[in-house]
Amino acid sequence: MQVKLMCTVLYLFNDVGLRHYSRTTCLKVFGAAVNSQRGKPTYTGQIIPPPAKYGGRHTVALIPGDGIGPELLNHVRELFRFSCVPVDFEVVHVNSSSTSEDDINNAIMAIRRNGVALKGNIETNHTMPPNHKSRNNLLRTSLDLFANMMHCQSLPGVQTRHKNIDIIIIRENTEGEYSSLEHESVPGVVESLKIITRNNSLRIADYAFKLAREKGRRRVTAVHKANIMKLADGLFLQCCKEVASGYPDIEFDSMIVDNTTMQLVSKPQQFDVMLMPNLYGNVVSNVCAGLVGGPGLVPGANYGRDYAVFETATRNTGKSIANRNIANPTAMLLASCLMLDHLKLHDYANMIRGAILTTMNETRLHTADIGGQGTTSEVVQSIMRIIQSGGPLTTEI
Ligand code: ATP
Repeated sequence: MQVKLMCTVLYLFNDVGLRHYSRTTCLKVFGAAVNSQRGKPTYTGQIIPPPAKYGGRHTVALIPGDGIGPELLNHVRELFRFSCVPVDFEVVHVNSSSTSEDDINNAIMAIRRNGVALKGNIETNHTMPPNHKSRNNLLRTSLDLFANMMHCQSLPGVQTRHKNIDIIIIRENTEGEYSSLEHESVPGVVESLKIITRNNSLRIADYAFKLAREKGRRRVTAVHKANIMKLADGLFLQCCKEVASGYPDIEFDSMIVDNTTMQLVSKPQQFDVMLMPNLYGNVVSNVCAGLVGGPGLVPGANYGRDYAVFETATRNTGKSIANRNIANPTAMLLASCLMLDHLKLHDYANMIRGAILTTMNETRLHTADIGGQGTTSEVVQSIMRIIQSGGPLTTEI
């Protein structure tokens, strides 16, 4: 019975189609072949080094970030060591209070070198001067990580108002309201530019439809506010429609963002794949994470043509709960599994994911955010015990 439940759960969580490296320079982005630029000069003149992999081991950039990031990533390292995962980490610290961009540039270079990163959130103090850009945003735009993907599912053992939620959210990750283009030319009047481009809208829409097809999903819903932002959101919506016409096997519809949030909290099961510009993606991701139990549970991934960065879906810093052994490690641990899948280390990913989900069924181990009294390290120890006992290893996926 337990094995059957595990199979179901693992099947749900196996829905992590990722970009694969092949032996040639051809990459697959959710099933779509695109040409890697690795080893060739980019339009900025930079040479992207080949991915680091020595003696069968991968090297991954690890950016601890602030708040709960460092302790959660220490648990990932501990778990990887325990599970003999063939991944080495290049740790890069980014000082979020420094005005210099040296640290973040080093982190970006480490990701270019390794191709893959696992990160905690880097705090952005909004009282810093306006020219101080979010380090997280800088990282995503510099590496052109255009697609943010979050798979929001009802989790075993977690009590929530709504059941049977299974939504994939695809968020454009590089433009929209996150352009960091603001000015106050006239005192008391601020203009903040939202950039929507045809190229990036077509690119993200194509990504979403390809993913939907690859995952056997039936419907893509574009989220917008084209009734007010007729040009910007109108262009986004138009691009989604154009791309949709090339995928007759997948139903396409659209919904205005305010109605979307209302529909989500009343009947979330109606959504399948959701596709949206940057800021709506941020809001909708947080609503969806809340629906399945909160920010400590859901992993997220950022994909570009050449790089991939994994983190928790809602990118929280959690400063107030840092170093207290109370943070829920699930989202970060599941993010590390997405990363292992990306590296094609599927057996390791499935083993760790299975142990995480089995532990979630143990309500006595739940951390405070999901109503329990368990500690972060108790959760991780339980995962290690399950791995040691070989339980999830026997499960076919
Ligand atoms: P702070 O960073 O001081 O906690 P904040 O408002 O910046 O406050 P976020 O980092 O955005 O908070 O996180 C939002 C909420 O989610 C906070 O209450 C935080 O404690 C909680 N949270 C985030 N991640 C986790 C986690 N892994 N486990 C438990 N709670 C979490």
